Amino acid sequence: MIWAAALLLIFVSYGDSEDYCYDEPHCDPYAWGDMFPSCHPLLEEHHSPINLDHHMTRNESLGSLHLEGFDVIQTGHWTIKNDGHTVVLQVGSGMSVSGGGLPDVYHTIQLHFHWGGPATNGSEHTVDSRRYPMEMHVVNMKSIHPNVTAALHDPTGLAVLGFFIDVVYADNVHFGLISQKLSSVAYKGQTTKIKPFPLMHLLPKHNMSQYYRYYGSLTTPPCSQAVVWTLYEVPIYISWSQLAQFSSQIFSTEEDAEQVTPLQNNFRHIHPTFSRIVSASKDGRLLAGTSSRPLGSDVSLRLLPIILLGSFVSGL
Ligand SMILES: [Zn+2]
Repeated sequence: MIWAAALLLIFVSYGDSEDYCYDEPHCDPYAWGDMFPSCHPLLEEHHSPINLDHHMTRNESLGSLHLEGFDVIQTGHWTIKNDGHTVVLQVGSGMSVSGGGLPDVYHTIQLHFHWGGPATNGSEHTVDSRRYPMEMHVVNMKSIHPNVTAALHDPTGLAVLGFFIDVVYADNVHFGLISQKLSSVAYKGQTTKIKPFPLMHLLPKHNMSQYYRYYGSLTTPPCSQAVVWTLYEVPIYISWSQLAQFSSQIFSTEEDAEQVTPLQNNFRHIHPTFSRIVSASKDGRLLAGTSSRPLGSDVSLRLLPIILLGSFVSGL
C-alpha cells in the first residue's frame, strides 16, 4: 500500500514536472523548449502562431474547403473537457475536411479555444500585429493515420482551421451551446457531455472562401511541425459575457487544489515566418498594412474610426 502510494507520488510529481503552463517562468511558452526540444524556435523554421501581414501572396487555386458533416446534427454525444490548458470539445466521427489545397481528407477530431484575461486579448495568430479577443481551432487528422501520434510525424499530418473570435453586444446563440457548459468544466480534469449541433452554425458561413494558408506547427507542446493552417479572415462574433465566461471562470488547477489559478492568456508567442509563404485564398483580402500608414490625409481621417476600433481589440 505504502509502495503503491509512493509510486503514485513519483508518477504524479513526474507528471507535474513534465507539464507545461502559460503563466510561470519555469514552464511558460519561452521555457517549453527545455522540456520539449521540438518547441525550441531556433532549431527549426516552421513554428506557429505567426503574425499575418501584407507579406502574403494570392493563390487563385485556393477555393472553399469541403466541410463534410458540418451542417448536420451528428449522432451520439460530444464531450467538453478542461485539460488544464484549454477547453476542448471532442466531437465524434462523422465530420471531415478536404479540398481548398489540402493534400488529403482529414477527419475532424476536436475543437478548442485560446483566450486572454479580463483586460487582455488572447488570440494566437495576430493580424497586422493586432490580437483578437479569442481564437478557436478545429483540429483535423489526415485520414491515412491511425492516431494523432502518427500524424505528428507527417509535415501535413494535421489540418487546423483557425477562427478569430471578436466581441459584439449580442450573445451568439450557437456559441452559447458551448459557453453554457463551461460552469461544469471550470476546473482541470472536469468533463461534461454536450448534445451535438451543426458545427457550421458556429462558423462565419457566408465568408468561408476567405482564408489564409501556411505550413506551421502545433502551438502547444510538443510543437510538432505537422500542421497545414487555414486561418479564416472573418471572425466569429460573441458577447462580452460569453467571452468573460472563458477569461474569468475557467481554472488551470483542480477543484481541490490549495490555490486555484484562473486559466488566462493561454496563447503561444508569435514566431517568424522566415522563408515561408503565406497565401491568401482566391477570395481572401490581401492585407494592405494599414497600421503602418501615417495619419493626416482626409482618407486616413476617414479610416480613423476603423483604426480606433481595431486598436480596441488589440492586446499588444
Ligand atoms: Zn490551439
